[in-house]
Amino acid sequence: MKSQLDRLREIPAVDTILNAPDLAPLLKARPRWLVVDAVHAVLASLRQEIQAGQDLAAGEMALAKLIPRVEQAAEEMGRTHLRPVVNATGVVIHTNLGRAVLPEEVLHQVVRVASHYSNLEYDLSRGARGTRYAHVEDILCRLCGSEAALVVNNNAGAVLLGLNTLAEGRKVIVSRGQLVEIGGSFRIPDVMKKSGCHLVEVGTTNKTHPKDYRNAIGEQTAALLKVHMSNFEMSGFTREVSRREMVAIAREAGLPLMEDLGSGNLVDLSAFGLPSEPTVQESVRDGVDLVTFSGDKLLGGPQAGILVGKKTILDRVKKNPMTRALRVDKMTLAALEVIARIYLDPPAAQRQIPALRMLSTPLSELTARAQSLARCIRSLSDDTWVVDVMEDLSQVGGGALPETPLPTCVVSLSTSGMSVNRLEQAFRAADPPVIGRIRHDRFLLDVRTIQDQELETVARVAGKVAALSR
Ligand SMILES: *Cc1c(COP(=O)(O)O)cnc(C)c1O
Repeated sequence: MKSQLDRLREIPAVDTILNAPDLAPLLKARPRWLVVDAVHAVLASLRQEIQAGQDLAAGEMALAKLIPRVEQAAEEMGRTHLRPVVNATGVVIHTNLGRAVLPEEVLHQVVRVASHYSNLEYDLSRGARGTRYAHVEDILCRLCGSEAALVVNNNAGAVLLGLNTLAEGRKVIVSRGQLVEIGGSFRIPDVMKKSGCHLVEVGTTNKTHPKDYRNAIGEQTAALLKVHMSNFEMSGFTREVSRREMVAIAREAGLPLMEDLGSGNLVDLSAFGLPSEPTVQESVRDGVDLVTFSGDKLLGGPQAGILVGKKTILDRVKKNPMTRALRVDKMTLAALEVIARIYLDPPAAQRQIPALRMLSTPLSELTARAQSLARCIRSLSDDTWVVDVMEDLSQVGGGALPETPLPTCVVSLSTSGMSVNRLEQAFRAADPPVIGRIRHDRFLLDVRTIQDQELETVARVAGKVAALSR
């Protein structure tokens, strides 16, 4: 038997592989640096296999065996890093998986605008310089019922910009119960500090009363802030000051009230059988001076931070130099304008905007979809696989309605050929990756967030995983 050292010595040199006639087609098709990297990667893993004491089959070091491995490695390295995945987690607004999926017509408009010059900052009627924000302001005002609107890079930026404009160097009053951390290191107290304003906390963790705000208002107070608690809910012995009460307190004191709504919902979710989430329109109607929300959470659009409210305040925000640093891209504006136009017809919004469609899909339809997927998977796997259809719960995600159970139907998988963790990993390693969840030692595919045209893909991936497990 050969020693480990002998086997390591048998590994061919990088140049031997690069000069092999059989590698020529790959070198022609791909940049040389990539092929060289692929050769290094294959040799490194070969070295690792030998050092780990793996019993390599005879001929494993032959060029005929190595070149296909190099081709495979080059293929993987040549693929874009950012790529589509199938979301089978059932979390509709999944921040790790890119949040909202955009409708087709939105993408057409992005391609149309981005592949040509456009009137981004050009007023076509006057033949003079215009502003990029004008394309969406009117329509956002119409949807939200506000006097003015502005769009920036994301909601964290919108909050930062709003606070900086209203209160730099001065004090902002917030209820202690609303000093939340949203995740991804967005904490309200930290954002306030960065905006240059001073936080004044009032009330206690569970209770804040109107008098707490009134007593805290002083010379140095610049604004009152209300924050949506997002992925956090309090119950029991609690008291929050309602939005209307806060408007009244702010008016009495002649101060502006700002509200960070987080998700930024424009439709009445109770129509889908969900608890009602505050809408942007309600916030504006109640008299909040400046409202901020995300474009890619419940709204179902591109990443953006939207500010709506009183014209006098938005005029100040627009003049803030920070606005330029948080400026939104033309592709985002193109997408947001189409999304906003879809919202002008609410039934169309429910049909066309994937986030809303996924949230409102009836259980009967989810059940039928899960059954058809389960049938497909059964036909592709063998009797070591247990494929069931079960009821379970999806999540809205994106910080909205964290405690709301969303009844759904899942395909539940397990097999004697693979542990549940290996199963999860094999689906995740597939092309395209399929991301599901593990519960009670079963791998679950929630059909709520799988799009119709992806069902076939998921079945195909399952077939490949089944072949692996044999
Ligand atoms: C999500 C969220 C934010 C941050 O919004 P991004 O669009 O992710 O920047 C801010 N505030 C609240 C309450 C949120 O839920």
